[in-house]
Amino acid sequence: MQRIGLLTSGGDAPGMNACIRAVVRKAIYHGLEVIGIKRGFSGFIEADMGPMNVSSVADIVQRGGTILHTARSDQFLTPEGRAKAYGNIKRFGIQGLVVIGGDGSFRGAISFNREHNLPIVGVPATIDNDIPGTDCTIGFDTAVNTAVEAINKIRDTATSHERAFIIEVMGRQSGFIALAAGLAGGAESILVPERPFKYEEICERLIRGFHRGKLHSIIVVAEGATGGMELASKIKAQTGIDTKVTILGHLQRGGSPSAADRILASRLGAKSVELLMEGATKMMVGINKGEVYHIDIEESLAGTKSVDLEMYNLANILSA
Ligand code: ATP
Repeated sequence: MQRIGLLTSGGDAPGMNACIRAVVRKAIYHGLEVIGIKRGFSGFIEADMGPMNVSSVADIVQRGGTILHTARSDQFLTPEGRAKAYGNIKRFGIQGLVVIGGDGSFRGAISFNREHNLPIVGVPATIDNDIPGTDCTIGFDTAVNTAVEAINKIRDTATSHERAFIIEVMGRQSGFIALAAGLAGGAESILVPERPFKYEEICERLIRGFHRGKLHSIIVVAEGATGGMELASKIKAQTGIDTKVTILGHLQRGGSPSAADRILASRLGAKSVELLMEGATKMMVGINKGEVYHIDIEESLAGTKSVDLEMYNLANILSA
């Protein structure tokens, strides 16, 4: 293998830049050339790509977002679009590809690998942490820290005004951010899509807390469990208590990556290059019990991943 391609795809995540840096520098260290592809699979189809060198990735380890930009591409969902991308692979002499992104990007990578036989290694990067086959994804730790910082600030104002607050965090299918941020931020209630909940119980908990003399209450809710506004109106209707809602939204995607995310991104990025050099055809790199490892992408995508129930129960005990 002499020349590899590299792209970031799907939703951006803090730490993608640290991963780009690791892939480029590790590849160059081993004498490989790297072609950076812009805007994910869109740039792949439109030939928006060019060579990268050691200097192209200078001063980015601490930056959020992705210098290669990212996009979602409808064209890549079709065999015709992927054939067009393959034309560019030939034109640029790319012999292997590193895809930094989420599960959708990996499904795209698999389709491409099946049709055109290009060796591909996926590096899991999404703030949602919902990719099976790895304990942790790049960007998750930073997003959790961002949410905890928001909880801390809201707690200050909630205490001053003796109020209840709802903080809605990202996570349509999974409650990883909600659970981790809720536990670390000492939330009184945490709602995740994976666990059924009753509005009555949330309300009872809220009232019990205020009767016990609590000055404030914080409820952290994953967007996929219920909308923050909807929850607030249900609480108002059942208890008469006014709750303020803060939706963190895209704030969670930005910011300088945490040290943990930079380290994870560097380790996984470097491993992806090693795997391509060793002849991997369709692998995903990941973390398993603290160790960098790899797994067949299809095997990973066939799996499931859900929040840790023990952690969920613990959060409930500690917030009682
Ligand atoms: P995030 O988890 O942050 O949303 P993601 O990688 O899952 O990131 P998606 O929008 O699901 O983001 O996928 C990114 C791109 O991957 C899509 O825009 C599309 O081009 C491609 N893609 C997704 N699924 C497939 C598929 N089944 N076949 C071909 N390409 C796909």
